[in-house]
Amino acid sequence: THFGYQTVAKKDKAEKVAEVFHSVAQKYDIMNDLMSLGVHRLWKRFTIELSAVRQGHQVLDIAGGTGDLAFQFAKLVGPTGRVVLADINNSMLTVGRDKLIDRGIVDNTEFVQANAECLPFADNTFNCITIAFGLRNVTDKNAALRSMLRVLKPGGRLLVLEFSKTDNPLLSKAYDLYSFSVLPALGKLVTNDSESYRYLAESIRMHPDQETLKEMMVDAGFVRATYHNLTGGIVAVHKGIKP
Ligand code: SAM
Repeated sequence: THFGYQTVAKKDKAEKVAEVFHSVAQKYDIMNDLMSLGVHRLWKRFTIELSAVRQGHQVLDIAGGTGDLAFQFAKLVGPTGRVVLADINNSMLTVGRDKLIDRGIVDNTEFVQANAECLPFADNTFNCITIAFGLRNVTDKNAALRSMLRVLKPGGRLLVLEFSKTDNPLLSKAYDLYSFSVLPALGKLVTNDSESYRYLAESIRMHPDQETLKEMMVDAGFVRATYHNLTGGIVAVHKGIKP
Protein backbone atom coordinates (compact mmCIF):
# COMPACT_ATOMS: atom_id res chain seq x y z
CA THR A 1 0.00 0.00 0.00
CA HIS A 2 0.93 3.61 -0.20
CA PHE A 3 1.39 3.80 3.59
CA GLY A 4 3.29 0.53 3.67
CA TYR A 5 5.67 1.93 1.12
CA GLN A 6 6.18 5.09 3.17
CA THR A 7 7.01 3.09 6.29
CA VAL A 8 9.59 1.03 4.43
CA ALA A 9 11.10 4.14 2.82
CA LYS A 10 11.37 5.90 6.19
CA LYS A 11 13.01 2.90 7.81
CA ASP A 12 15.41 2.63 4.88
CA LYS A 13 16.50 6.22 5.24
CA ALA A 14 17.06 6.01 9.01
CA GLU A 15 19.02 2.79 8.60
CA LYS A 16 21.10 4.21 5.79
CA VAL A 17 21.91 7.34 7.84
CA ALA A 18 22.88 5.16 10.83
CA GLU A 19 25.18 3.05 8.64
CA VAL A 20 26.78 6.06 6.98
CA PHE A 21 27.66 7.87 10.22
CA HIS A 22 28.76 4.72 12.00
CA SER A 23 31.09 4.06 9.09
CA VAL A 24 32.56 7.59 8.84
CA ALA A 25 32.70 8.53 12.56
CA GLN A 26 36.42 7.94 13.13
CA LYS A 27 37.47 9.83 10.01
CA TYR A 28 34.67 12.41 10.08
CA ASP A 29 36.75 15.41 11.18
CA ILE A 30 39.58 14.91 8.72
CA MET A 31 37.08 14.32 5.89
CA ASN A 32 35.25 17.53 6.80
CA ASP A 33 38.46 19.53 6.52
CA LEU A 34 39.48 17.84 3.27
CA MET A 35 36.08 18.05 1.58
CA SER A 36 35.45 21.68 2.39
CA LEU A 37 39.14 22.73 2.30
CA GLY A 38 38.61 23.89 5.86
CA VAL A 39 35.77 26.27 4.95
CA HIS A 40 33.29 24.43 7.23
CA ARG A 41 35.14 26.13 10.09
CA LEU A 42 34.13 29.56 8.73
CA TRP A 43 30.50 28.46 8.23
CA LYS A 44 30.44 27.25 11.83
CA ARG A 45 32.06 30.44 13.11
CA PHE A 46 29.37 32.50 11.38
CA THR A 47 26.69 30.33 13.01
CA ILE A 48 28.24 30.85 16.45
CA GLU A 49 28.23 34.62 15.87
CA LEU A 50 24.54 34.55 14.93
CA SER A 51 23.68 32.51 18.00
CA ALA A 52 24.20 35.38 20.47
CA VAL A 53 24.99 32.72 23.08
CA ARG A 54 26.56 34.12 26.23
CA GLN A 55 27.48 33.26 29.84
CA GLY A 56 24.84 31.24 31.66
CA HIS A 57 22.89 30.16 28.54
CA GLN A 58 21.43 26.70 27.98
CA VAL A 59 22.37 25.46 24.51
CA LEU A 60 21.42 22.33 22.58
CA ASP A 61 23.51 21.25 19.60
CA ILE A 62 21.41 18.52 18.01
CA ALA A 63 22.96 16.23 15.38
CA GLY A 64 26.10 17.62 17.01
CA GLY A 65 28.29 14.73 15.88
CA THR A 66 31.93 15.27 16.70
CA GLY A 67 31.19 18.43 18.68
CA ASP A 68 32.68 21.39 16.75
CA LEU A 69 29.85 23.74 17.74
CA ALA A 70 29.38 22.30 21.23
CA PHE A 71 33.07 22.95 21.97
CA GLN A 72 32.73 26.65 21.13
CA PHE A 73 29.45 26.96 23.02
CA ALA A 74 30.94 25.31 26.12
CA LYS A 75 33.51 28.11 26.25
CA LEU A 76 30.88 30.81 25.68
CA VAL A 77 28.33 29.71 28.30
CA GLY A 78 30.98 29.31 31.01
CA PRO A 79 30.53 27.46 34.31
CA THR A 80 27.02 28.80 34.94
CA GLY A 81 25.67 27.65 31.57
CA ARG A 82 25.06 24.24 30.05
CA VAL A 83 25.63 22.70 26.65
CA VAL A 84 23.96 19.50 25.51
CA LEU A 85 25.63 17.73 22.61
CA ALA A 86 23.01 15.36 21.22
CA ASP A 87 23.13 12.96 18.30
CA ILE A 88 21.18 9.89 17.22
CA ASN A 89 24.36 8.00 16.39
CA ASN A 90 26.37 6.44 19.18
CA SER A 91 29.60 6.25 17.12
CA MET A 92 29.52 9.97 16.27
CA LEU A 93 28.55 10.89 19.83
CA THR A 94 31.42 8.84 21.26
CA VAL A 95 33.97 10.56 19.01
CA GLY A 96 32.50 13.95 19.99
CA ARG A 97 32.48 13.18 23.70
CA ASP A 98 36.08 11.92 23.69
CA LYS A 99 37.24 14.98 21.75
CA LEU A 100 35.60 17.45 24.12
CA ILE A 101 36.84 15.64 27.23
CA ASP A 102 40.37 15.59 25.76
CA ARG A 103 40.08 19.36 25.33
CA GLY A 104 39.13 19.81 28.97
CA ILE A 105 35.40 20.38 28.48
CA VAL A 106 33.91 18.45 31.39
CA ASP A 107 31.88 20.56 33.78
CA ASN A 108 29.18 22.23 31.71
CA THR A 109 28.58 19.77 28.88
CA GLU A 110 26.34 16.72 28.62
CA PHE A 111 26.17 14.06 25.92
CA VAL A 112 22.80 12.64 25.00
CA GLN A 113 21.83 10.07 22.38
CA ALA A 114 18.60 11.46 20.94
CA ASN A 115 16.54 11.69 17.79
CA ALA A 116 15.84 15.27 16.64
CA GLU A 117 12.27 14.22 15.81
CA CYS A 118 11.34 13.61 19.47
CA LEU A 119 13.75 15.42 21.76
CA PRO A 120 13.89 14.07 25.33
CA PHE A 121 13.90 17.48 27.07
CA ALA A 122 11.29 19.51 28.93
CA ASP A 123 9.37 22.31 27.20
CA ASN A 124 11.03 25.76 27.25
CA THR A 125 14.52 24.55 28.24
CA PHE A 126 17.05 26.10 25.83
CA ASN A 127 18.08 29.65 24.92
CA CYS A 128 19.53 28.41 21.65
CA ILE A 129 19.43 25.27 19.50
CA THR A 130 21.77 24.57 16.61
CA ILE A 131 21.61 21.82 14.01
CA ALA A 132 24.58 21.87 11.65
CA PHE A 133 24.61 19.67 8.55
CA GLY A 134 22.12 17.49 10.38
CA LEU A 135 18.59 18.39 9.27
CA ARG A 136 18.98 16.88 5.80
CA ASN A 137 19.64 13.49 7.42
CA VAL A 138 16.48 13.61 9.53
CA THR A 139 13.60 11.57 8.10
CA ASP A 140 10.72 13.73 9.38
CA LYS A 141 12.06 17.28 9.22
CA ASN A 142 8.74 18.88 10.18
CA ALA A 143 8.53 16.77 13.34
CA ALA A 144 12.12 17.76 14.16
CA LEU A 145 11.35 21.48 13.74
CA ARG A 146 8.29 21.18 15.99
CA SER A 147 10.28 19.27 18.59
CA MET A 148 13.01 21.93 18.58
CA LEU A 149 10.41 24.67 18.94
CA ARG A 150 8.89 22.90 21.94
CA VAL A 151 12.16 22.66 23.90
CA LEU A 152 13.27 26.24 23.14
CA LYS A 153 12.46 28.96 25.66
CA PRO A 154 10.16 31.72 24.36
CA GLY A 155 12.46 34.21 22.62
CA GLY A 156 15.05 31.47 22.10
CA ARG A 157 16.58 30.95 18.68
CA LEU A 158 17.06 28.04 16.33
CA LEU A 159 19.93 28.07 13.85
CA VAL A 160 19.97 25.58 11.01
CA LEU A 161 23.30 25.39 9.16
CA GLU A 162 22.86 23.26 6.07
CA PHE A 163 23.82 22.77 2.44
CA SER A 164 21.46 24.70 0.24
CA LYS A 165 20.99 25.83 -3.36
CA THR A 166 23.20 28.23 -5.25
CA ASP A 167 21.52 30.24 -8.00
CA ASN A 168 24.82 30.76 -9.81
CA PRO A 169 24.70 28.27 -12.75
CA LEU A 170 28.49 28.00 -13.06
CA LEU A 171 28.97 27.40 -9.35
CA SER A 172 26.10 24.92 -9.42
CA LYS A 173 27.73 22.90 -12.26
CA ALA A 174 31.14 22.91 -10.59
CA TYR A 175 29.57 21.89 -7.31
CA ASP A 176 27.63 18.98 -8.87
CA LEU A 177 30.78 17.74 -10.53
CA TYR A 178 32.63 18.06 -7.26
CA SER A 179 30.05 16.31 -5.12
CA PHE A 180 29.34 13.39 -7.46
CA SER A 181 32.88 12.62 -8.60
CA VAL A 182 35.54 14.22 -6.40
CA LEU A 183 33.71 13.62 -3.13
CA PRO A 184 33.09 9.85 -3.46
CA ALA A 185 36.67 9.41 -4.75
CA LEU A 186 38.03 11.30 -1.74
CA GLY A 187 35.78 9.20 0.50
CA LYS A 188 37.18 6.03 -1.04
CA LEU A 189 40.76 7.21 -0.64
CA VAL A 190 40.52 8.26 3.00
CA THR A 191 37.84 5.98 4.44
CA ASN A 192 37.66 3.22 1.80
CA ASP A 193 33.94 4.04 1.65
CA SER A 194 32.76 5.84 -1.48
CA GLU A 195 29.15 4.71 -0.93
CA SER A 196 28.70 6.83 2.23
CA TYR A 197 29.98 9.92 0.46
CA ARG A 198 27.72 9.25 -2.51
CA TYR A 199 24.81 9.15 -0.04
CA LEU A 200 25.93 12.49 1.41
CA ALA A 201 26.01 14.08 -2.05
CA GLU A 202 22.53 12.76 -2.82
CA SER A 203 21.11 13.95 0.50
CA ILE A 204 22.43 17.44 -0.25
CA ARG A 205 20.71 17.48 -3.63
CA MET A 206 17.38 16.35 -2.09
CA HIS A 207 17.41 18.93 0.72
CA PRO A 208 14.84 21.78 0.53
CA ASP A 209 16.10 25.10 -0.85
CA GLN A 210 16.38 28.29 1.20
CA GLU A 211 12.79 29.54 0.75
CA THR A 212 11.25 26.09 1.28
CA LEU A 213 13.12 25.56 4.54
CA LYS A 214 12.15 29.04 5.70
CA GLU A 215 8.48 28.20 5.01
CA MET A 216 8.84 24.92 6.91
CA MET A 217 10.17 26.84 9.91
CA VAL A 218 7.25 29.25 9.78
CA ASP A 219 4.79 26.34 9.45
CA ALA A 220 6.36 24.71 12.52
CA GLY A 221 5.65 27.91 14.50
CA PHE A 222 8.88 29.92 14.35
CA VAL A 223 8.69 33.70 13.89
CA ARG A 224 11.12 36.18 12.29
CA ALA A 225 12.49 33.37 10.09
CA THR A 226 15.41 34.56 7.96
CA TYR A 227 18.44 33.08 6.27
CA HIS A 228 21.95 34.05 5.22
CA ASN A 229 23.59 32.50 2.18
CA LEU A 230 27.23 31.51 2.59
CA THR A 231 29.68 30.63 -0.20
CA GLY A 232 27.22 31.66 -2.91
CA GLY A 233 24.32 29.72 -1.37
CA ILE A 234 26.12 26.37 -1.32
CA VAL A 235 25.42 26.63 2.40
CA ALA A 236 22.79 28.68 4.26
CA VAL A 237 22.11 29.47 7.91
CA HIS A 238 18.42 29.77 8.76
CA LYS A 239 17.37 31.52 11.94
CA GLY A 240 13.98 31.35 13.64
CA ILE A 241 12.70 32.59 16.98
CA LYS A 242 10.23 30.90 19.31
CA PRO A 243 7.37 33.33 19.97
N1 SAM B 1 26.94 18.87 13.46
C1 SAM B 1 28.16 18.16 13.15
C2 SAM B 1 29.01 19.00 12.25
O1 SAM B 1 28.51 20.01 11.74
O2 SAM B 1 30.18 18.68 12.03
C3 SAM B 1 27.87 16.79 12.54
C4 SAM B 1 27.14 16.79 11.24
S1 SAM B 1 27.01 15.20 10.49
C5 SAM B 1 27.11 15.59 8.77
C6 SAM B 1 25.29 14.81 10.68
C7 SAM B 1 24.95 14.22 12.03
O3 SAM B 1 23.52 14.13 12.13
C8 SAM B 1 25.49 12.81 12.27
O4 SAM B 1 26.27 12.79 13.42
C9 SAM B 1 24.22 11.97 12.42
O5 SAM B 1 24.35 10.89 13.31
C10 SAM B 1 23.23 13.00 12.93
N2 SAM B 1 21.80 12.64 12.76
C11 SAM B 1 21.21 12.11 11.66
N3 SAM B 1 19.90 11.94 11.85
C12 SAM B 1 19.63 12.40 13.11
C13 SAM B 1 18.44 12.49 13.89
N4 SAM B 1 17.26 12.08 13.43
N5 SAM B 1 18.54 13.03 15.13
C14 SAM B 1 19.74 13.42 15.62
N6 SAM B 1 20.89 13.36 14.93
C15 SAM B 1 20.85 12.85 13.69
